[in-house]
Amino acid sequence: MVRRKVKAQKRRTQNEPCAICAQPLPEKYSVIDRIRAADGYTFENTRLLCEPCDRKVQEERGYT
Ligand SMILES: [Zn+2]
Repeated sequence: MVRRKVKAQKRRTQNEPCAICAQPLPEKYSVIDRIRAADGYTFENTRLLCEPCDRKVQEERGYT
């Protein structure tokens, strides 16, 4: 599955905190977010977020 692969790659190469709030990402609850939804799950088009930030982003986009 591409999405899982990209996520694993992100975690390995970035070692970054949440892209929004800069809190360290918990191992199990990080969420991979597409910067542009139409562009799919590519390494360049994704970022890792913590779960609360992901929820906020989804709400702002009107997905809920
Ligand atoms: Zn966050």
